[in-house]
Amino acid sequence: MQRQSLVAYAEPLQSTEAPTPVPQGTEVLLRVSHCGVCHSDIHLQDGYFDLGGGSKLDVQAGRKLPFTLGHEIAGTVEAVGPEAKGVTTGTRYAAYPWIGCGKCGLCARGDEHLCNAPRALGITVDGGYATHCMVPHPKYLLDVAGIDPAFAGALMCSGLTGYSAVNKAIAFQKAGPILIVGLGGVGMMGLQFARAMSDAPILVADIDAGKREAALKLGAAEAFDPADAGSRKAIAKASGGGVGAAVDFAGSDKSLAFAQGVVAKGGAAIVVGLIGGSFQLPVPMFPLRALTIMGSYVGSPSEAQEMLALVKAGKIAQIPMETRPLGDTNRSLDDLRAGRVVGRVVITP
Ligand SMILES: [Zn+2]
Ligand SMILES: [Zn+2]
Repeated sequence: MQRQSLVAYAEPLQSTEAPTPVPQGTEVLLRVSHCGVCHSDIHLQDGYFDLGGGSKLDVQAGRKLPFTLGHEIAGTVEAVGPEAKGVTTGTRYAAYPWIGCGKCGLCARGDEHLCNAPRALGITVDGGYATHCMVPHPKYLLDVAGIDPAFAGALMCSGLTGYSAVNKAIAFQKAGPILIVGLGGVGMMGLQFARAMSDAPILVADIDAGKREAALKLGAAEAFDPADAGSRKAIAKASGGGVGAAVDFAGSDKSLAFAQGVVAKGGAAIVVGLIGGSFQLPVPMFPLRALTIMGSYVGSPSEAQEMLALVKAGKIAQIPMETRPLGDTNRSLDDLRAGRVVGRVVITP
């Protein structure tokens, strides 16, 4: 099999070759047709997340180099292990990548994406920037019939992340409307899921005028510029005193300060983005405002099914996508890092 592999942190990916693995037990070997290039791949390539104030969260542990990144995987079944039931070769699937150990309490309650000993495809075990990818069990293969396979892969990350965050926000709608902060790829997905899952008007905020315009076209009720000094007042007015949930798809110190600042009493700021930084709030503000601040990380296997049902019902518009060959993976990461990507670049190994 051909791969584009991380051979050293903070270095370009390199072409590597390895024997194509043979599925054992319940394993299923996918012939990768599409794999989306995601912003979190850049952090993994760097080997750290920025925690603000010059400190870094090292994410190099538990990964053997050369390592194959890529977690937004769609493909066809090429071979199945002797105990892999219910899948036939040649069938097209997307792979649920956020796979856990399968043994701990988190996995047992269905939250495999939060497992502390993950086997996440393209994160802790080899992923989709390769001609082949091994999936440990058929239950992680999701039926994506009728969905463009390039989009199906991206849905496993940006779609699932947007869906799960908005799913949490829905519970706070009694305190006010939902505000989407940060209109990158995941934020735009979040906006669409919010529109599909709520009858109430959805508000959006982004510093980029073009993105605000695009969000209004996708059905946002009102758009605000966080850099505008009057925006907090304007949001208070539009929401009748504050939003029920501000979903922060940027995840920087600035965006979270803004997001929590426009939340009504009894509402929540939900942090999704991973730009980085750190954040301070006087402790009494939590009880005095009955404020919830929570994080949302990708989504569970059952949320992936719920999300795909909304997509199959035609409620989610496809994001702009550009396909590129496997050899262009490293250039695509560089383009993403430099902000030169609109929508999603999808590698077609
Ligand atoms: Zn991703
Ligand atoms: Zn587990």
